Amino acid sequence: MIPVIESIFLRQMASGDRLYLQLYKFIGAQPGKKVYIQSNLHGAEIAGNAVIHQLIEFLLTINESNLAGEIWLVPVCNPMGTNERSHHFSPGRYCLYEAKDWNRIFWDYEKQADNLVAFTKSQLHLDLKVVRQNYLTTIKQQFATILEKINSHSSVPYTEIFSYKLQNLSLDADYLIDLHSSTNQALDYLYYFRNREDSAKYFVLDFGILLDKYDGDAFDEAFIKPWLALEACFKEFGREIKFDVEAWTLELGSGMQIKPDSVAKGVRGVKNYLAQKGVLQIPDFSDDIKTHEMTFASSSNRKKYYAIAGGMIQSRIELGSSVKVGEKLYQILSFNKEGKLPSIIDVCAQQDGLVYDVATNQAVNEGEFVLGVIS
Ligand SMILES: [Zn+2]
Repeated sequence: MIPVIESIFLRQMASGDRLYLQLYKFIGAQPGKKVYIQSNLHGAEIAGNAVIHQLIEFLLTINESNLAGEIWLVPVCNPMGTNERSHHFSPGRYCLYEAKDWNRIFWDYEKQADNLVAFTKSQLHLDLKVVRQNYLTTIKQQFATILEKINSHSSVPYTEIFSYKLQNLSLDADYLIDLHSSTNQALDYLYYFRNREDSAKYFVLDFGILLDKYDGDAFDEAFIKPWLALEACFKEFGREIKFDVEAWTLELGSGMQIKPDSVAKGVRGVKNYLAQKGVLQIPDFSDDIKTHEMTFASSSNRKKYYAIAGGMIQSRIELGSSVKVGEKLYQILSFNKEGKLPSIIDVCAQQDGLVYDVATNQAVNEGEFVLGVIS
C-alpha cells in the first residue's frame, strides 16, 4: 500500500531557511485504531529513524485489507535536535535557547483539568466509547487555545510551537510509540505505564520499566496521563474502567549510532504489537509471546551513579551485567594535584541489580553520570 505523505511547516530560521516535519500516513481499508509513531525527538537518538524506514518498507508490501485503522509515522521529528553538533558529537538533548529538555516540554491536559470530578460524575453510566469521545473532545477544546496563542502577535517560545505541532498529530491516537535510545550506551528496553503490562509483552523485548514516578511533561506521559487520571477518578466512584489507549517509549541501544540488532528488535516489537492489537491483520503473523520472558522493573528503583571524584573511568563493569551489593562497578583513575602519585578509587554497587545504561565518555568531572543500575 502507498502512504499519504504530508510536509508540515515547523519553523523559519534567522537565515530564512525553513524546517519541516514529514508525515507518512498508511490508511487501512477498514476503520480502526490510530497509531502514531515518531523517532529522534532527542537529537542523538537516531536508531528509531531506521526502525521507521523499515516499517515503511514493510507497510509498502502489504495491502489496505491487511490494515485496520491508520498508522502515522514521523521520522526525524525534531530537526533542531537532529542537526545540532559539537565537533563530531551530536548533543541534541536540549533546546539550548530555552535551556529545556526536548522531551520535557509537552502539554499535559491533566494539569489544567480542574473539573475532572464533575466530568466523571456526568459520564459515570455512559458506554466507554462515548466517554472516550467526550473526554477527547474536551481535551481538544483546551488544546485549541494554544493555537490561538501561537497565532497572536505576542506568540509563544519555540518549544511551545514545536510541542503543539507534534501533539496536534498525535493527541487523538489510540496507541503512541516514541522511539528513543540512550544518549549514552544502553540495553534495548521500553517504558510503560500502569496496568499496561500485558500489552508491553507484545513488544517482545527482554526488559520493561514501569514509569511509576513522573511529572507529565514527556511526550508519552503528556499523552496518557489524562486517560490514567480519568480511569483513577472513575475507580473512586466505584466503576473500574480501562481505555484502550497506550503510550510507549522504546529505548533502542546507544546514542549517535544505529545498531542493527537494536533496530531489528524495534521493528520486530512494533510489528508484533500492531498485529496483537489487531491493527495489522495478516494471517499467522504474530510472534509467539507466550514463551517470551520479560523482566519488569519500576523507574523509582533506578539508581544513577555519579562520579565521586574527577578522573578517568576504567575497569568498568560490562553493560547488561547483573551486580550484587558491594561488588565493584568501576574505578576512577585520579591525577590529584597534591604532589602525589596517581590514585585509583574503587566504586561499588549500593544495591543488587542490572547495569542498563553506561556513559560513552570515560572522562568524568566529579558529579557526572557513569552508569545506571535498576533492581
Ligand atoms: Zn530520549
